[in-house]
Amino acid sequence: MNTVICFDLGGSFIKLGKVQGDGELTLLGQEKMPTSAWPEFIRLMRSMIEQHHAHFSASSPVAISTAGIVTPDSGEIFASNIPAFHQRKLAQELSVELQRQVVVHNDADCFTLAEALAGAGKGHKVVFGAILGSGVGGGLVADGRIIIGQNGLTGEWGHGPIALTEVEIAGEWHRLPRLSCPCGQKGCLDSWGGARGMENLHRVLHGEMATSIDIIARWQQQEALAEKTISAWLQLVGQPLAYCINMTGASVVVVGGGLASVTPLIAALDDVVQGYVLRRSTQPLVVPGRFAHDGGMRGAALLAKQTR
Ligand SMILES: [Zn+2]
Repeated sequence: MNTVICFDLGGSFIKLGKVQGDGELTLLGQEKMPTSAWPEFIRLMRSMIEQHHAHFSASSPVAISTAGIVTPDSGEIFASNIPAFHQRKLAQELSVELQRQVVVHNDADCFTLAEALAGAGKGHKVVFGAILGSGVGGGLVADGRIIIGQNGLTGEWGHGPIALTEVEIAGEWHRLPRLSCPCGQKGCLDSWGGARGMENLHRVLHGEMATSIDIIARWQQQEALAEKTISAWLQLVGQPLAYCINMTGASVVVVGGGLASVTPLIAALDDVVQGYVLRRSTQPLVVPGRFAHDGGMRGAALLAKQTR
């Protein structure tokens, strides 16, 4: 198998890497994402490949993992935080510009595919990918294939009016407001579930501003306010996650995003989720992903191989 040219396209950076036949990923370079202009974006993509051309052959395909959602029929990408290619037919247009086969897919889906085929979900028939980064995202893989739903959306458990409005902490009930979400709805899990949400929760419960890093460190030192915040966070995140497991039949949830690296938090989340699912498991259900930092690029490369 040819070496695959991989890109991770985020709101701030363009990362370039290569995946060889054995699946090994090597990071090659990183540039700032242009703030708006398409021509500038194309020039940068070309020059990054050119700069590292010794690693690739003329027929090496390009595999792209990005924070956007790709509309299945038209190929149009919805990535409002990346104006350089928002609403472009990114795969089609780039394949003409770069004269290579180009595959583009959502980063949470790519992460889930990488985990299902080569990471913490390997050997499982149905794998749910839960992104707990600054916000909440997700993806679903069954039988080694990404499930691509209506309008390109699947596994988006972070949005919709689903967040609990009451949590029980040490025998006392606390009411929570239904916060407005940038998606246009109120009461989304995204308002509470990621690192930014944890900070919201701490502020609403205690009237105190603290970073998620600070809250987690204080929780690990068994500090009372942080323990209350994490107790509420585990309920808010654990209940919808258990519902996702019941509904999809996933036998493992692989966690990606920044919070995946906080192993005790993911273990605590697993414990809570085990109490909510219909069928408890003797194995952990919620586990940190193996490729929390580069799963997007790895998964995009696997997708390029599947679509050849
Ligand atoms: Zn929302």
